[in-house]
Amino acid sequence: MSLEGTYDPQNIFAKIIRGEAPCYKLYEDDDTLAFLDLFPQSYGHALVIPKRSAARNLLEVDTDALCRTMATVQRLTRAIVAELEPDGVQVAQFNGAPAGQTVFHIHMHIVPRYAGEGLGKHAAGKAEPAELEALQARLVKRLQATA
Ligand code: AMP
Repeated sequence: MSLEGTYDPQNIFAKIIRGEAPCYKLYEDDDTLAFLDLFPQSYGHALVIPKRSAARNLLEVDTDALCRTMATVQRLTRAIVAELEPDGVQVAQFNGAPAGQTVFHIHMHIVPRYAGEGLGKHAAGKAEPAELEALQARLVKRLQATA
C-alpha cells in the first residue's frame, strides 16, 4: 500500500481505537489517543493518532483532526521531555510505504533522542513488556501531574 489507496478499518491502529487490540495507553481524549510504540526506536518512543478520522496520511486527514492531534503531540512531548530528560526529540510522520509508512492510519511519532545514542531500526525489535509497563506508568503519572 502506498500514498494512494483506501482506508482499511482492520489496520492495527483502528483496532486499538475500537478496543479490539491492546496498547500501552498514555493519554486519551475525545479526539486523540497516545500510546507507546511496541517497536521503539529509542527509549520513550510514543505515537499519537486521531480517533475519529479515517485517514491514512497527511494528505487525507481533515485539518481539525490534525490540529487536535498536534495539540496532543505537544502535550505528550512536554511530558516526555520533563520525565525522561532526553537531549532532543524528533517528531515525525511518514506518508506512503516508500517514505517508511507501515501502518496506514495517520500517526505522529515522538522519538526522544539521547546524546551519543543512535536511532533503533524502524518498526523492528519489540520492547519487553516490563519495560513498556514501567515507562507507561512514569509517563501517565507525569501527564497527570502536568494536566
Ligand atoms: P509507520 O512506519 O510510520 O507507519 O509507523 C508505525 C509504527 O507503529 C512503527 O513505529 C511500529 O513500531 C509501530 N507499531 C506497529 N504495531 C504496533 C502496535 N500494535 N502497538 C504499538 N505500536 C505499533
